[in-house]
Order: sequence, then structure tokens, then C-alpha cells
Amino acid sequence: MDPPPLEGVIKDVVCAFCGCVCDDIEVTIKGGVIESVKGACGLGLAKLLNYSRERVYSPMVRRSQSFVEVSFEEAVEEAADILVNAKYPLLYGWSSTSNEAVRLGVELAELVGGVIDDTSVTCHGPTTLALQETGVVTATLGQLKNRADLMVYWGCNPGHAHPRHTVRYSAMAKGRFVKGRRERRIVVVDVRETPTAKMADLFVKVQQGMDYELLTALRMAVKGYTIEVEEVAGVPRNMIFKLADMLTSAKFGVIFFGMGVTMTAGKGRNVEEAIRLVQELNDHTKFTILAMRGHYNVTGSGAVMTWLTGYPYAVDFSRGYPRYNPGVTSSTDILMRGDADAALIVASDPVSHFPMKAVENLSRIPVVVIDPRWSPTAAIANVFIPSAFVGIEVEGTVYRMDKVPIRAKKLLEPPPGVKSDVEILQALIDRVKARKLKGGG
Ligand code: SF4
Repeated sequence: MDPPPLEGVIKDVVCAFCGCVCDDIEVTIKGGVIESVKGACGLGLAKLLNYSRERVYSPMVRRSQSFVEVSFEEAVEEAADILVNAKYPLLYGWSSTSNEAVRLGVELAELVGGVIDDTSVTCHGPTTLALQETGVVTATLGQLKNRADLMVYWGCNPGHAHPRHTVRYSAMAKGRFVKGRRERRIVVVDVRETPTAKMADLFVKVQQGMDYELLTALRMAVKGYTIEVEEVAGVPRNMIFKLADMLTSAKFGVIFFGMGVTMTAGKGRNVEEAIRLVQELNDHTKFTILAMRGHYNVTGSGAVMTWLTGYPYAVDFSRGYPRYNPGVTSSTDILMRGDADAALIVASDPVSHFPMKAVENLSRIPVVVIDPRWSPTAAIANVFIPSAFVGIEVEGTVYRMDKVPIRAKKLLEPPPGVKSDVEILQALIDRVKARKLKGGG
């Protein structure tokens, strides 16, 4: 590929921030840096304009409680030492890097007999379990934009988390057959009236943690059963029947759901119930369901792990072959139990997101961090290797939330000496292999 221009406008840039993976951004480069951005939302804009903040440009290792700068080779050597000497290393992160890097992560996990897990353990892991349990009727965002005349947002607030979702793919989007908001009905089911709820035709306020009950009541209403109580999950019976009517009378519907469904009481069972509702709605009309995935490549990391191991996350190689048992082999559970004796964290910040007990145990073991920027997790690392930003300083393949693969572009050269995740992981694999050949682990 030709080197990126130092000056000029680059069109159709891919925003590597959230699961929408918008690929229509325009970026102006001046003097080798991003000068302006057109078309991105506030989140994408902030990432593209501030990518050079909180960067570290040299690999570092911890010596007597402080960090010292070292060469790339020394950092890789020390990281390989940590992984080869561990009995049960955890390789966590992966949702904010390319599929090519995840592929190498799986190879490394197998080599060192560790567990590879991505951030879905704290977001849509229960969705994955539910999809495996029940199967799913789904569609791409393109199909939904063109055809869906009823859109339900359940336990998600794209107004804040996926700001261009409604404009580019859903409520407001101009489709081929459904021309826009005026030809669509919008429903929001949530525990509070969010900004997304304010634009809905119907807002259904569900009691906290009672999504399963409401979904079950909706299934009953869709099947024509009587609901004997006045309200379910804080929703009046007449509103449940009204919503059931809206769902069955749509020509093509979709439920977009978020962590308000997956991370509240019921978790994966909520998702199973939502999928069953959608399956039953297909007796009446065409209906689909799609998870609102957060990180820009959390869908891709799960897909790559599935191609290579048969399992989408929490894959354990400690017996020499892949095993999968979320709740046991998932990163939060491993760290809560204190089972991992080393960790490699790639493009992620578990210290800011994991339960306190897991963070305490993570801080007690040797940790290698590969990340473009400094973070609370980097602060507890034994080895820190800075990496280039995917979609800014290095290209790579990522998967949008609907599993459509998109090639993220390289816009700029990375800072001198800063390598891509792919280059760093390949160097680490080569060192681990060399150490193992020498009988070092
Ligand atoms: S919606 Fe997401 S992918 Fe699109 S521009 Fe905003 S942050 Fe980027």
C-alpha cells in the first residue's frame, strides 16, 4: 500500500471507535497531523483529533517500582519471559484492535497455554450465550435501514453510546423502501426516559431488572393469551397489548438491544426471551434482532476466536486444546478467583472496568500491556509496549456490529519506533517460540 499523504483530504475514512464503524468520514491532514474531521459524531471526532494525547513513545519496563525506557527488543524479551514462565496466563482485551492482531493473539494463547478473552465479558457475553442457545433471526444494518418500518430500542441509548446509529442506519436513516423517520414507528423500552426515548412514538418504562417479565408478557400478548394482572414490570396491561399490536402489524421490524438487557437481572436469559419473542413474531411478519455492540471491533474479535477455536470468547488453552466455559474461563472470573499468574492486556483498560477484587488480583501478578496510550492498567504493568492506532496509524480489518467486515484505513505514519499490534504480537510469538525451543518453558 502507498504511504499515506502528509497533506490533503482523505475521504471514506473508517471511524474506529464504536460498533457503528462509520466508513464515510472525511479527514484533512496537514503537516503530518489530523487538522480537521468532517462527518463524525462527537465521540469519533474526539478520538480522531486527540489520538496523540497521553501517548507513550517508548517501551518501558518496571524496575524497583518505577518505569525505565528500554528498547523494543528488551521489552519483547521481558514480556516473553513473563508469558513463558506463567502456568495460567490471561490474554485479555482485543476489541479495539484489528482481526489480524486477534488472530495472532489466539496463536499466542495456544503457545503459552493461556486463556484468551475479549471485553464482551463485561457487555454482550450473555448475548453470545443466548445466540448459541436459541439461534437468531437477524439482518445487516443496510437491510434494516432499507426495509424496517418498526424499530425498537430496548435497554440501549444510541443517542449517547452510538451517536450516528439513528441517523446512518436506523430511526432517521433514509432507506430504499422506507424513506425515513416519517415512514417508521419507533419504540423505546428503558428504565428511564433517555434522549433516544424522546424521539419515540411509544416509550415503555420498564421496572429496573424486570425485562424478562416484560418480554414474557409480550410473548403472551403476541400469542393471544390473557394477562390477568393489571401491570407487568411496571408496564400497564393495555400498553403491553398496544406494543404487541405494533410489533405484529409491522411489515419488517427490528429490536436493537444493549446492556440494559444483557447486564441486568436475567442477563443472557433476557436475550433468549427477546430472541424467542422475535422468533414468534415471525409467525406474523418479518422481524429481526441485533445487539448494539460497543467497541469498534468487539464483533470481530469474537468472530476471529470462533473461526480459530470454535468458541467466541473466554477460550482456555491450558489443557493444550480450546475449552470454553464462561463463568469459569472468563477473564473476570479467573481474576476474581486469583487463578491467573500473568496477564497480557491488548488495547484495553480492565483496571478501569473490572470488579475491584479482579483488579486487586491483576495488580498482584506480572502484567504486559500493549496499548497506543497510557491508562490505569498501564500504570500497574511490568512491561508496557506502545502501539499504533488501528484506523489512524495502521490499517486493519474490523467487523461492524452486524458482522459486516470493513477495512480501516491508515491515515498517518505512526510515531518513529512505534509498531502495530500485529508487529508486536508477531515479535512476541517469535520470542516465545524461541524460548520454548530452548526449553525455557
Ligand atoms: S457513531 Fe461511532 S463509529 Fe460513527 S462516528 Fe460516532 S463514534 Fe465513530
